[in-house]
Amino acid sequence: MSTTKKTDPKKQEKKAEGSQALQAVKGMPDILPKEEGWWKSFRAAGATVAELHDFHRIETPILEPAELFERGVGAATDIVEKQMYAFRTKGGERVALRPEGTAAVMRAYFEHHLGYFASPLKAFYEGPMFRYERPQAGRDRQFHQWGFEIVGDGDSVYDVEVMLATLAIFRELKFPAFTVKINSMGCKVCRASYREKLKNYYRAREKKLCKDCARRLDKNPFRLLDCEEEDCKALRGEAPIILDYLCQTCNAHFKSVLELVEENGIPYEPDPFLVRGLDYYNRTVFEVWGVGAPHALAGGGRYDYLGELIAGRAVPAVGAAIGMERSIAFLKSATPPVALSKERPRVFFTAVGDQAKRASLKRMEELRRAGVPVVEALGKRSLKGQLKVAGKLKVPLALIFGQKEMFEGSIIMRDMVTGAQETVLLDRLVEAVKQDLKKKS
Ligand code: AMP
Repeated sequence: MSTTKKTDPKKQEKKAEGSQALQAVKGMPDILPKEEGWWKSFRAAGATVAELHDFHRIETPILEPAELFERGVGAATDIVEKQMYAFRTKGGERVALRPEGTAAVMRAYFEHHLGYFASPLKAFYEGPMFRYERPQAGRDRQFHQWGFEIVGDGDSVYDVEVMLATLAIFRELKFPAFTVKINSMGCKVCRASYREKLKNYYRAREKKLCKDCARRLDKNPFRLLDCEEEDCKALRGEAPIILDYLCQTCNAHFKSVLELVEENGIPYEPDPFLVRGLDYYNRTVFEVWGVGAPHALAGGGRYDYLGELIAGRAVPAVGAAIGMERSIAFLKSATPPVALSKERPRVFFTAVGDQAKRASLKRMEELRRAGVPVVEALGKRSLKGQLKVAGKLKVPLALIFGQKEMFEGSIIMRDMVTGAQETVLLDRLVEAVKQDLKKKS
């Protein structure tokens, strides 16, 4: 006789609904352990470059007063107007998840009088940024940036130093090829007359503009230059370019930047329509593009007015931010695949039997304290199964710790390439492992 109970499918469905596994917020992807190598390589390259170029780490909070970005980045920019995660806390403060890193670095610069300690201040940061954009390939709502900022000097050498540091990361990562697009946004004086020219140009063609551009024509006409809509793109071809309106000082600055870019062998192309989506830029703006990549990998420029906007004090500054997800995606797609930095060889440690398992913690700790990375396999799998795992991980050396070895005060070292095994005394374990790894490296 069958004992299976019939269950009500509706009830079952309801139960499933209630216990459905939750998923990450849209556009905020997890970065999984299998990605670790890429992220590690990026961070290692960043740290090396920061040290070589004398940039120092700064970490600012993820949450800032919303006003910092409204005043700094600009209330009429897409980033602030449409993409900012801003909200009121229970205490009534208006805060925002940072959409970018520069305004916060500048806030910290004034708050902690950093200009007093270093002139210019050379800082770098790394961390997540948040923008409520439509998620698609290369565009997330949470993404990571690595940024360099030089605050306190307006000389063109610093514009190019920021470019060189940014490119040094790409070079360190063995990027196949890249190019830097460069333009100048002028200053308050020359930009104002260009702005008018641009407005007049587009106003005469208003009917052909997309809805977004028609709306932002008055508030932010520069944005019309990088609209992706076909009709707007077509209009851009005939639009006036800022280089024809630069004042003498801005012209001289731009010329000097281009000369230094050439002298330093930076692959570049002038792009008169490069405007960037943040209000605070003046003079030099640039973007780094991987050859064949669909989006810019990094962007930056000079922001001499940001200090005035957020603290009432003008301090010349220049910086750049690299999109880490985009750069890693580009690296992955590069042909031939670029070699990541080599990891230290690891040792595979497997214990057979409960007592050996308990005793292995101490032995692994000895190795780790001596600087040897250890992968442990203390599960219930058979020795054969464990060694199969070791083979997959491509570790050069496995250590086998069984009951017999434990009582004898020894351990088996197995060469994972040749399969040769030798027994060593536990007292000599660290020394023997180090010697063996040295031979293999
Ligand atoms: P920005 O802060 O807009 O100048 O961007 C600098 C770099 O950050 C870009 O070149 C991208 O590599 C990266 N980035 C900007 N927005 C996103 C996004 N929504 N998703 C992924 N990466 C982004």
